[in-house]
Amino acid sequence: MEAQPTLFRGGRLFDGRQFLDATDLRIGLAGTITQIGSGLEAETGEAVVEMEGRWLLPGLVDCHVHFREPGLVRKEGYLTGSAGALHGGVTTVCEIQNNPPLMETGALLRQKIADLRGISRVDYAPYGSLTEAALPTLHELKGLCPAVKCFLGCSTGAGGVKDEATMRALFQRAAEVGIKIVAHCEDNQIMDAAAAAAQGEQASRHDFLRPVEAEVQSIRDAIRVAGEVGAVLHVFHISTAEGGRLVAEARAAGQPVTGTTAPHYLIADAEEAAAMHENRFKVNPSIKSADNREGLRQLVAQGLLEGVGTDHAPHPLEEKARPYAKAPSGFPSIDLLLPLMVAVADDCDAMSIEAAVASVTQLPADEFGLTQKGRLAIGADADLVLADPEARFVVDESTLPSKSKWSPYHGRELRARPERVWLRGRMVHEHGKEPAAPQGQPVGPAASVLAEV
Ligand SMILES: [Zn+2]
Repeated sequence: MEAQPTLFRGGRLFDGRQFLDATDLRIGLAGTITQIGSGLEAETGEAVVEMEGRWLLPGLVDCHVHFREPGLVRKEGYLTGSAGALHGGVTTVCEIQNNPPLMETGALLRQKIADLRGISRVDYAPYGSLTEAALPTLHELKGLCPAVKCFLGCSTGAGGVKDEATMRALFQRAAEVGIKIVAHCEDNQIMDAAAAAAQGEQASRHDFLRPVEAEVQSIRDAIRVAGEVGAVLHVFHISTAEGGRLVAEARAAGQPVTGTTAPHYLIADAEEAAAMHENRFKVNPSIKSADNREGLRQLVAQGLLEGVGTDHAPHPLEEKARPYAKAPSGFPSIDLLLPLMVAVADDCDAMSIEAAVASVTQLPADEFGLTQKGRLAIGADADLVLADPEARFVVDESTLPSKSKWSPYHGRELRARPERVWLRGRMVHEHGKEPAAPQGQPVGPAASVLAEV
């Protein structure tokens, strides 16, 4: 299906790094951006969208989501998860399989990528799994995915790497194959010790049981071992200011180490998380103190991390509402990504809107090699988000398109909800309307699977 040639006129364009006022943008039949300028005149056969000063942004790139497909679609699935993505302004996801079957072989990953055509509403680039079982087949994953996921700490669907020798073997093999590692960094021993020491209320404080030191020590170890074996390391969902600084310092020292945080570590703090009903803010790593939130905001504001990924991880509310120890970690958030990042900028003097939006567009696109995505530039995919920054709304969890229909942000007032979203030049989402048929395609290395079909 071809794109509809369209002229977008008179908007505030965000090119991936900065806003350009009163600017026009043209997209062509091929679904890419063909012209950016001012005073552009409509051509014959071209549709015109008058933006009247609203924002035109590149489709957001969410580099960390769990859509549970295949294997656990009762909790989510690409059809519903990607509908949530469009609602949040996201047009590309990098997705992590954290339920069986893990993506440990080329055949499994190739099958997943092929099966999602006609189901995903957004473009997708699933990660492979870096586990001991995947070591003999790791070379098959290179060329299919942007990176391979390694759980250094136990979390949903993963027990974590049991010791440093195992971590070293995994990192060594990734280095030999030449594939980037994306890591969940929390130290199991430190978490076990915290659990053994917990008294009274501490036994149900997630930030006590998964403490700052667990993440910081794990990041420190991961950076050291990656350096020793020559592996390329990206640390996911950094929840501590110190962890973020370690990553930024290693990169500044010339080591190929990068990292992202998640919106909840920039929005909430441990007290708010502990007070939240039904364990809605229970997530791994835990949400830390307000000082850590402030430190992470500073790192994102200064561009010292490679951006933000949601860690969208849905569970049915009846499971979250169990007693603390039995409630699963993770919550849905992709449906609100753009408004949440704008809220972070609004709440933080140091954080510009530009830094907040770049952290979910060009920064993660560049980090994971998706150079067609995350920017408004000639030749880039026409993945576009039209949003009115002045329009405020109150989050109603029951209306969010992803599967679980609850949100820790329910009742919060936000702004800049996407009105319309285009994917490669086709309008695929209009707020409040029935979605278009799924048109997502594999991107990045995953696109090679499409060429085979
Ligand atoms: Zn995750």
